[in-house]
Amino acid sequence: MSDEPAYRADLRIDVGAIRHNVRVLSACARSSGARTMVIVKADGYGHGALTVASAALEAGADCLGVASIDEARQLRAGGITAPLLCWLYAEGDDFAPAVAEDIELSASSQASLHRIAAAAEQRGRVARVHLKIDTGLCRNGCPAELWPALVEDAAKAEADGHLEVVAVWSHLACADELEHPSIDRQAERFHRAYEQARAAGLRPIRHLANSAAVLTRPDLHFDLVRPGIAVYGLDPVPQHGNHELRPAMTFRSSVALTKRIAAGESVSYGQTWTADHPANLALVPVGYADGVPRTLSGRMSVWLAGKRRPVVGRVCMDQLVVDCGDDEVREGDEVLLFGPGDRGEPTAAGWAEDIGTIHYEIVTGMYRPRVTRTVVDTEAP
Ligand SMILES: *Cc1c(COP(=O)(O)O)cnc(C)c1O
Repeated sequence: MSDEPAYRADLRIDVGAIRHNVRVLSACARSSGARTMVIVKADGYGHGALTVASAALEAGADCLGVASIDEARQLRAGGITAPLLCWLYAEGDDFAPAVAEDIELSASSQASLHRIAAAAEQRGRVARVHLKIDTGLCRNGCPAELWPALVEDAAKAEADGHLEVVAVWSHLACADELEHPSIDRQAERFHRAYEQARAAGLRPIRHLANSAAVLTRPDLHFDLVRPGIAVYGLDPVPQHGNHELRPAMTFRSSVALTKRIAAGESVSYGQTWTADHPANLALVPVGYADGVPRTLSGRMSVWLAGKRRPVVGRVCMDQLVVDCGDDEVREGDEVLLFGPGDRGEPTAAGWAEDIGTIHYEIVTGMYRPRVTRTVVDTEAP
């Protein structure tokens, strides 16, 4: 047992790993002359936006990105003064507080551009705007046929002194599929949109690359890159080689109860697993309400008392049961549900593979009302 208190359901967030990953990614960006915007949307992919933002800036990140205005304002309220971009709005969103708090705003349409300019005028400020072109993701971003009108209006608003067009930007659909033909097609459309912005008199920088493109496409780094998932130590392109990233999240619990059962006894709801041997069982007080996918029932293991041990029977809302065979485990012993994998424990990427999703969804879904987060720093002296 470690000297730390026994946790029920805790996410251990390693800011040393975050800083390490930011240094790896920004060195990669710097080698092609680009700066680094670290993406901390969705509460820092479940790791804690403020924690990650602070660690990233310490490690040399130039700026931060989030999806919504609320997320951006929460970072400002938490004391983050670094440049900060947000890009996804709901119909009723008020741009004025964002402009007043020096939050850079993306515009994908003339309507949002005009609302941003109006908010800036109202506050007597110059809004910093990133114009987003849809180059093929068909999600957010301005369609190519509406782009010339958007850049014309942006140039006018810039001349009026209400806004400054900081960047032209876009987002890739298949950057994690190396050599996917859509990547070059998007890059070509991006180039065209940039040329149109220049022709309209704008002098923006460019940014396009998510984590996968930071790691695999230096030709698409342009002036700024926007890594998200890789900052958290999860590799979007493991097939491309080892990028020396360190997963920052460990999900841990501890043994709440032990018992010995006879061969022939069955475990958990539905009695889906029956012991063919007398067994020491360890009860772990986490379940699907704490982010353990119930679909992992019967096909997951945990790291407990020096080795991987199978979880038997169904994962319940609050509990799961581990078969420890004849080994003695003790109440309070640490249980690792997933982590970096260094000790042989399962990983978030492994969970994702086993249930047919991506590691993004696993880590982003872990933080819940009943789950605590503990920040540690493995780089601390
Ligand atoms: C989420 C997001 C990113 C980061 O993507 P990763 O694949 O996590 O690196 C970058 N840009 C935009 C617009 C995003 O929405």
